[in-house]
Amino acid sequence: MKEQTKIIHSIPSDPLTGAISVPIYQTSTFVQEAPGVHKGFDYSRTNNPTRKALEDLIAVLESGTHGFAFASGLAAIDTVVKTVLSAGDEIVAIDDIYGGAFRLFSMVYSQFGVNIKYVNTQDLAELEKAFTPQTKLVWIESPTNPTLKISDIEAIANLAHKHGALLGVDNTFATPASQNPLKLGADVVIHSATKYLGGHSDLIAGLVVTSSPELAEKIKFIQNASGNILSPFDSWLVIRGIETLHLRMKQHALNAFEVARFLETHPKVKNVYYPGLTSHINHEVAKKQQRYFGGIVSFSLKTDTIDAATSLVTSTKLFKLAESLGGVKSLCCHPASMTHKSIPAEMRQQSGISDSLIRLSVGLEEAEDLVADLAQALQNV
Ligand SMILES: *Cc1c(COP(=O)(O)O)cnc(C)c1O
Repeated sequence: MKEQTKIIHSIPSDPLTGAISVPIYQTSTFVQEAPGVHKGFDYSRTNNPTRKALEDLIAVLESGTHGFAFASGLAAIDTVVKTVLSAGDEIVAIDDIYGGAFRLFSMVYSQFGVNIKYVNTQDLAELEKAFTPQTKLVWIESPTNPTLKISDIEAIANLAHKHGALLGVDNTFATPASQNPLKLGADVVIHSATKYLGGHSDLIAGLVVTSSPELAEKIKFIQNASGNILSPFDSWLVIRGIETLHLRMKQHALNAFEVARFLETHPKVKNVYYPGLTSHINHEVAKKQQRYFGGIVSFSLKTDTIDAATSLVTSTKLFKLAESLGGVKSLCCHPASMTHKSIPAEMRQQSGISDSLIRLSVGLEEAEDLVADLAQALQNV
């Protein structure tokens, strides 16, 4: 069966009533026949039927065996850290990391005696040098935010395992419609379902998937112990978003490619970052591990200043200036002053986030209109 068919039919109809849409079980508790005798649900922090439908669904999508839903993408990452690491352990993380993950690792977990090293994981030799006997987790995103760097997931999984560490992949940008890290050897995958999985800019949610029964048992324990769970209503919204994931990702990628090609030839544009362009440094690796190249395009200006970037992001009409990505409506953002503000300037520059870098979340409008919008905005720079 093809992927899109499999996804749609992995969403169960309600066994009780036949409802074709998953019911929203808006309940805190479940009536028991006798102490401990119940229908598999006792308290909604521990388990809820609507959340379970989403958790089972994301496990199928990522070709894993166990899925878990959390209140946000960061709550999902937080749970993985709590599952895998103890004081004295070390994370080797990608240098071009999502700002919120950087803040969590460096400003929260460092307090608890967990060490963090940031490396350029595009360079396997550099990555190999970073391992110590304390390294328990390698953490990557591919493509990264916002410069769309690609890391070779299969090669990194092999390296991590050789050094006795696990590999965690933040698959938010690619989505399971495009890339399945567990199939490439990763041990755990997380998503900010806030982005493409939800797909409509109307919720905050996070997901974790693994195929390891031991990891799954610990994740389940932490999920229940910490209580960072996703609500029944938001679980339902994510399920509804996932129904059209394939369709949306196909169109996001087509539109993004058109936008990237336009920017590449524009005289005021310095660099364009899009893994689907043959000029992208990791195009071949992206081609090997992704089915689509995604909907995010970043670019810098020849006038590499915050002012130039500001005039552009305040001149677009269809691209709305906002954080986040992955929704139906196109968005633009200025990482240096918005999403990546919490990353020290020096580290930001090193990972290619120049002052004029602009990130586009290319939506589902007509590509022609999006290109025209960028063309008029670039005139103002
Ligand atoms: C948004 C995002 C997160 C964090 O997710 P939230 O749902 O906002 O907590 C993590 N990783 C990536 C790549 C993201 O884009």
